[in-house]
Amino acid sequence: MAHVGADAEEAVFQSFRNGLSINFQVKRGLSITRRSSRLLHYKSWGGYPSTPQTGVPLYWGQDLLVQLARYPESKVLPFGNGRSQGDVCLNGGGILVGTRSMDRFLHFDHLQGTIICESGVLLGELMEMTVPRGWFPIVTPGTRFITIGGAIANDVHGKNHHRAGSFGNQVLRLELLRSDGQRLICSPTENRSWFEATIGGLGLTGLILWAELRLRPIANPLIHQQVIRFSHLDDFFAISVDSDQDYEYTLAWVDGHATGANLGRGVLTRGNHAGFFTDSHRQVAQPALQPSFPVTLPFSLVNPWTVSLFNKFYYHKPIRKDGYSTIHYRPFFYPLDGILHWNRVYGRGGFLQYQCVVPTAHGRDAMKEILSRIAATRLGSLIAVLKIFGAVSSVGLLSFPRPGVTLAIDFPNPGPRTLELLSKLDGIVRQAGGAVYPAKDARMSPEAFHDYYPKTDRFREFIDPRFSSQFWRRIRGGNP
Ligand SMILES: Cc1cc2nc3c(=O)[nH]c(=O)nc-3n(C[C@H](O)[C@H](O)[C@H](O)COP(=O)(O)OP(=O)(O)OC[C@H]3O[C@@H](n4cnc5c(N)ncnc54)[C@H](O)[C@@H]3O)c2cc1C
Repeated sequence: MAHVGADAEEAVFQSFRNGLSINFQVKRGLSITRRSSRLLHYKSWGGYPSTPQTGVPLYWGQDLLVQLARYPESKVLPFGNGRSQGDVCLNGGGILVGTRSMDRFLHFDHLQGTIICESGVLLGELMEMTVPRGWFPIVTPGTRFITIGGAIANDVHGKNHHRAGSFGNQVLRLELLRSDGQRLICSPTENRSWFEATIGGLGLTGLILWAELRLRPIANPLIHQQVIRFSHLDDFFAISVDSDQDYEYTLAWVDGHATGANLGRGVLTRGNHAGFFTDSHRQVAQPALQPSFPVTLPFSLVNPWTVSLFNKFYYHKPIRKDGYSTIHYRPFFYPLDGILHWNRVYGRGGFLQYQCVVPTAHGRDAMKEILSRIAATRLGSLIAVLKIFGAVSSVGLLSFPRPGVTLAIDFPNPGPRTLELLSKLDGIVRQAGGAVYPAKDARMSPEAFHDYYPKTDRFREFIDPRFSSQFWRRIRGGNP
């Protein structure tokens, strides 16, 4: 790929300026690693399926057109930071176009709390820019190592779905580059149908070049949290009613091995941003060193014995009497980011995460059934999370979040027993009128997908003819 020189750089920003009539202040992401232009190998976070993937990095959006001309027979797919557990970020037999080098900040209005950045900026980089200035992303998932493009394409959700909806609800506008060179500014008022197709559009409608996001004001980087142990799924529902009223953020870890009177027992965490009068200086310290899981083992360290031990330990972990404490936003939102490459504990076979949502009306019974089945097989893993989604409608035609209760749980090395279990869970979810999350999936059937996403036929009109993904071909029964 040709190196982009300073003149070209200036020309691109000139075109950004002309297109948007804003005086951009260009700044790169804070922890940039410049990628070389050679072909790179990309993986999904779950490492399953482990099809080899070839990718080319894009430094500028327009590089897409160069790569399309270079590989005229291939389908392409944007690749953010590969934090999707399943195959929505994979394109075996085609080309992945890596967006991480598109990491420039284009405008930050720190009076209004809006920011415009390229789609390869990591959420964590954005926060390094905005948090010290008193602004926070309105929606964040459980990792900050995702790109803004990836967050939009999966329409990710966070611990405050009951208040804020999903990521797409915070996007003011974005620019989409199509394979025919067409550039579309999309927003709730401009090219609205393209906006609705691209949010949650799984990277299939074209390349998102940049996005403008709404932020929320904060007084400091701290969260007042409360941790509550609950002994049954029914208690989770009872506590959630209060939590959702009084707390911006709520999430519960659940013991996926517990049965009978202990079914669905767990630990709920709820929190609000700390106010101006918090003694922030004392408590803001972050660990200087970030440990990393060093290698991928040939076997998984996650098995029914280690999971059972971990679950018992975690459920009984000491909690302060009133459960209250004040912590930095990072351990609150991103406990798993504390250990880099933690996915390696699952070994070379990788893992799958199953995340489903079932509507409130059937939620309690369906969730009991789902948890009972998982516990009976003892296949479920360390990380199982429950959350109530609220009524804020998602923007995207294929957005996953909808009102109800959602469970996300990891399954190591998806062998035949796991796949059989997950198909049975699909049956329960379909019957309850729920859905499974594509971002984490690598095995749902085309029929299940169509039940979960009834607007798929409309979505199809917006797919770029040169774009495709492993996920999409799978749920289309092998068709492009
Ligand atoms: C520890 C952990 C916790 C998580 N917690 C949550 C959670 O709480 N809630 C949640 O919703 N998800 C969660 N996830 C999933 C993760 O947030 C999403 O999969 C996210 O979309 C990944 O972003 P990415 O930049 O890595 O994109 P990738 O995984 O690389 O790609 C995701 C999709 O985005 C598309 N895409 C990427 N960039 C562009 C672009 N510029 N233009 C068009 N399409 C593009 C890709 O084609 C692909 O379809 C979690 C993942 C991990 C590892």
